[in-house]
This record gives sequence, C-alpha cells and structure tokens, in this order.
Amino acid sequence: MDHEIRKLAWQLAAHAEWQAMSGTRAIPVGLPAIAGAASPDGSLAEVALDPATMRSAAALPSSERLAVAASAAGAPSAPSEPVASSRTLDDLRGEIGDCRRCRLAGGRTQIVFGVGNPRARLMFVGEGPGRDEDLKGEPFVGRAGMLLTDIIEKGMRLSRADVYICNVVKCRPPDNRNPEPDEVEACSPFLRQQIALVKPEAIVALGKFAAQTLLATKTPIMRLRGNWFAYEGVPLMPTLHPAYLLRNPGDKKLVWQDIKQVMSRLGLAS
Ligand code: SF4
Repeated sequence: MDHEIRKLAWQLAAHAEWQAMSGTRAIPVGLPAIAGAASPDGSLAEVALDPATMRSAAALPSSERLAVAASAAGAPSAPSEPVASSRTLDDLRGEIGDCRRCRLAGGRTQIVFGVGNPRARLMFVGEGPGRDEDLKGEPFVGRAGMLLTDIIEKGMRLSRADVYICNVVKCRPPDNRNPEPDEVEACSPFLRQQIALVKPEAIVALGKFAAQTLLATKTPIMRLRGNWFAYEGVPLMPTLHPAYLLRNPGDKKLVWQDIKQVMSRLGLAS
C-alpha cells in the first residue's frame, strides 16, 4: 500500500511539473506519458504531449492506455504480432518465448529479459545486451555491469537484487551496434509491459540510446541528464551509460549527481 501511495504521489508531482512547464491551467483527465520537466532552458519542448490525446487515453483499459500513451509520445507502435497483457514477469517471459519478431533473433545466444526484484522501487533501463550479457542471459554483467553494480551497491547502498535491470531490446545487436528503429518497435511492447508489471517509482535511463528512445527525442544526453522526465507516468532520470564512464571516468561525478537526485526522490539517504 505504501508503495502505491508513494507512486501515486510522484505521478502527481510529475504531472504538476509538466503543467508548470507547459503553462496548462485546465486539469486534464490523464497523466502525461512523457513530459519534459525541470529543463532550465526549455529545450525539451519536443517531448511534450498533446492533452487531447491524454484525455482520450484515460478512458481506455490500462493495457490500451499504455499503447496510446506511448503512441502519443512518439514511441514505436505495437508490432504486428502483439503480446498478450501478462499478469506477472514470468508470464511475460513465457509469452516472449523464443521470440523472432525482429532480425536480432538471428544473432543472439539467448534472450536477455531482465533481472531483479519484480516489485522494485527503482528500474534501470539500458540499450541492449552486449557480448557478456548475451552469453550469460543477464543484463549488465560485463565491466560496465560491474560499474553499475558499484553505483547501486556502493553508491546507493542498495543490493543489486533490490532493483530491476533490463534493456530496450532483449537480444544482442551484432557488433554491439545500436538497435534499428524497427527492432526497437518490435521489442518495445515487452519493455512497456515490464514497467507496467514492476510499477517502479522511478526509472534511470542508462545512456544516450535508452534515454532518447524512451523519451522519443534527439536531444543530446548531456542536456537530458540531470533532469526529471516521465515515461508511462513514472519519473525518469536520464544519466550516462556505465560503458561511457569506463572510457571517461572524469564524468562519474555527473552520474553521481543524477543518482543523488534519484535517491532523494526515493527517500534514500546519500
Ligand atoms: S530483440 Fe526483442 S523483438 Fe527482437 S527477437 Fe529479441 S526479444 Fe524479439
């Protein structure tokens, strides 16, 4: 119950931030799916939503609301072979099965679904599995994953098992290239359902690709990071990818600034 109340309170706060930014006086029926917030230069206007779409989305069943909200935000639409609405993460994993909805299936060792607490208050979302993840079947287990684990365990003083970790696409892109738009489109219903099932109180988007994909924007990650947004009504903080930090350790302080904002929002002492 406390989890639900906290989530509702933050959804209302995100909504209020969006209203303040957009200058909206009337109260729309639905919450924004993706809304720029707290950007000091107003540079994130391209991710603002159409209130008319939010109103129509609010009248739909929750599963359809997710699809409408994502569509309104410019996110990829549902694939031609839709996934049934799952009741648990295990159900969802079962429905994904030996998925071959996009060409990434041809190069993978295995699907890397996600790992962690199915009722986590905090979710990390990266781009896609790399070589180590593809081999082990778990996200963020290579050197970048070890750094993410340090951020969670040494920085936030949480256990890795306390949070939920997944990626935008569940299969390794060849040569670690970025996923193509049609691959993101095919896989995005899985991520949306993961978020809907876990119901995190906050999401951290790790790196440029995840942040720009979830927010449907081309705004550079250095301008996105450090600012709160919302995805599917959940507060979202973009930050730098751990793999980038391995190459640019001097920017760890920027990630720590972002993580401290997340900790503050979750009521965790830093
Ligand atoms: S990336 Fe996603 S949609 Fe494509 S084959 Fe893997 S699980 Fe299916």
